[in-house]
Amino acid sequence: MNEHWESALGDLQGRLSTENFDTWLRPIRFDRLDAGTVHIRIPNRFYAEWIRTHYLDLLLEALKRHAGIGELDVEWKVDESLAEAERQAAQQAATAEPEPPGAAPSASAGTDGAGERSASQPPASHTNLNPKYRFESFVVGPSNQLAHAAAMAAASSPGARYNPLFIYGGVGLGKTHLVNAVGHRVLSDRPDARILYVSAERFTNEFIWALQTHRINEFRARYRNNCDVLLMDDIQFLAKREQTQEEFFHTFNALYHSDKQIVVSSDAYPQQMGQMEERLISRFQWGMVADIQAPELDTRVAIVKKKAEQEGIAVSGEVANFLAQTVRSNVRELEGTLLRLAVKAELLQRPIDLEFAREALRSHAPRPTHATTVEQIQKAVCEYFNIRMTELKSRRRHRSVAYPRMVAMYLCRQRLRTSYTELGERFGGKDHTTVMNAVRKIEGRIDSDDREVIDTVEAIEFKLNKS
Ligand code: ADP
Ligand code: MG
Repeated sequence: MNEHWESALGDLQGRLSTENFDTWLRPIRFDRLDAGTVHIRIPNRFYAEWIRTHYLDLLLEALKRHAGIGELDVEWKVDESLAEAERQAAQQAATAEPEPPGAAPSASAGTDGAGERSASQPPASHTNLNPKYRFESFVVGPSNQLAHAAAMAAASSPGARYNPLFIYGGVGLGKTHLVNAVGHRVLSDRPDARILYVSAERFTNEFIWALQTHRINEFRARYRNNCDVLLMDDIQFLAKREQTQEEFFHTFNALYHSDKQIVVSSDAYPQQMGQMEERLISRFQWGMVADIQAPELDTRVAIVKKKAEQEGIAVSGEVANFLAQTVRSNVRELEGTLLRLAVKAELLQRPIDLEFAREALRSHAPRPTHATTVEQIQKAVCEYFNIRMTELKSRRRHRSVAYPRMVAMYLCRQRLRTSYTELGERFGGKDHTTVMNAVRKIEGRIDSDDREVIDTVEAIEFKLNKS
């Protein structure tokens, strides 16, 4: 195999989920690289489509970088024998790991951290639940109380009142943790329960794979008939994917009508998920909808302490407090910071005291934005758009004020990581979902390279950084 190809794949492996890498990139065979063209073989024509829309830019970028060339084309050739090899690999995975059969060739996915399970916990090897994500390790506070209570209720009488359970909230706030916890709890009450935890992304990949390999009946049997609890993570991934939505719709109906519990997580409230079929959205609201907010200080402190205890890291209350005050937005970041601190302390042979934590976090401080405040951002936005502060905080929906308001909310969230609830208050008493949507909308437009929005945001940031 060509070394440039290998290096390029290596890059991509680091950037994609194992599932996606194994499903889409691993099966590609490299033939040769000549005169600005890379020649590859793929198992069937679907690969060309999928790779073109999802990974081709990344792949060619990496290849050009490693090979030191400026322009690169790709020539595909379909090679049926590769499909056969994939099928065999998938079958092997299926026999090695009877449940779930793993229609997508990703036998390793979802077993993260399984080796770290402590002896007291029941083996979870026949499910793909994350062994660490249990109710016992989840810290309850006002920000997640409702979602936690609903998850407990759904777990103690699956398929009954809280069906479906729909949990929504921002990144790193514990959705995946709670969804897994439901699975563990059901299993501990009913060890024979068939629990299926799957991300919407994996569901999508498996569905496509099943279509391609004529295994759709198997796929349906697994999700509709051989499943007592379906835990579907990050459902927002199905946005715009109409065919997969349709499939999920029927899966949902089949499970729901046989009183099987369905738990769904999402980054947005059902009605605010863009590009999702109305009939799915309405079903999500049949049961219980619960949100998770960014945790308050006390909860963050408790989370640091719990995590430290779990990982055997010695931190004082003072340090836990300091960390919780410094890292506000999301629990994943908070945990990450604690772990980095622990690693560093071990390397330098120093205790994690307040001085050490302060020093260590200083170098990790993302941007010197501590000088800005919500008011300063609001003021800068008002000046930029030439509107009054009262208008910015008003309920007027006209674009002339609604757009500046969204930009201001986005900037506050980006720079200060203020909670949605608090931002709602600071913008004249708006609901947190209003703020969340505004931030998402701007993020979406920046992601899709909307020049107007990017220029606006940059101009205001420039102004803020100068002052
Ligand atoms: P999400 O799915 O909402 O993006 P995760 O469930 O992956 O977030 O949570 C991110 C990390 O934070 C995980 O390691 C999880 O265990 C941890 N976490 C989140 N909320 C809590 C909580 N309330 N108590 C303990 N750990 C939490
Ligand atoms: Mg998650």
